[in-house]
Amino acid sequence: MFLKSIQIFGFKSFADRSVIEFRDGISALLGPNGCGKSNVVDSIKWVLGEQSTKTLRAEKMEDVIFNGTENRKALNVAEVTLTLSNDDGVLPIEIPEIEVKRRLHRSGESEYFINSAPVKLREVRELFFDTGIGKSSYSIMEQGKIDQILSNKPEERRYIFEEAAGITKYKLKGAEAERK
Ligand code: ATP
Ligand code: MG
Repeated sequence: MFLKSIQIFGFKSFADRSVIEFRDGISALLGPNGCGKSNVVDSIKWVLGEQSTKTLRAEKMEDVIFNGTENRKALNVAEVTLTLSNDDGVLPIEIPEIEVKRRLHRSGESEYFINSAPVKLREVRELFFDTGIGKSSYSIMEQGKIDQILSNKPEERRYIFEEAAGITKYKLKGAEAERK
């Protein structure tokens, strides 16, 4: 499984619909300060269901929507789509290519889609359980993350190992069964 492309529209500095394509292997985003490299990383976290505005480097969630420039009007919607190759069946949907989309309207309305079907945030989270990709997982290692992991409380650190071991979903199912 790997990230094939990101389609961004209206998210932070991406006023035009932009597509960034990746190959299996290593890719690097290069560009001058402020050109939007970190915004691309933010957009990935956002689709994966990030709800913390601090993590997204915004004051309120609405701030992720393109807010205009001197000669360009602000937009009212932000939309990001991740296309993932699932040839190896790591994601629990038996199709070779999976699209996950998040859309946010300035009115506050928020939508998630998996392969164009509307879903709940919870279903997006479930798709990535035990793959290491989830929003609080280890696939995105930004500045300071290693320090943060090392200084985490033991139970927070254990989460990383449980995710890598592939038992997160069983733990959650167990907790759900106990509640019933
Ligand atoms: P550096 O190399 O300094 O880390 P970078 O390439 O990572 O830079 P980003 O942090 O991704 O840059 O982009 C910052 C730019 O994004 C700023 O110019 C900021 O004004 C713009 N930006 C952030 N949010 C929005 C928004 N909602 N609407 C329009 N522009 C935005
Ligand atoms: Mg940056």
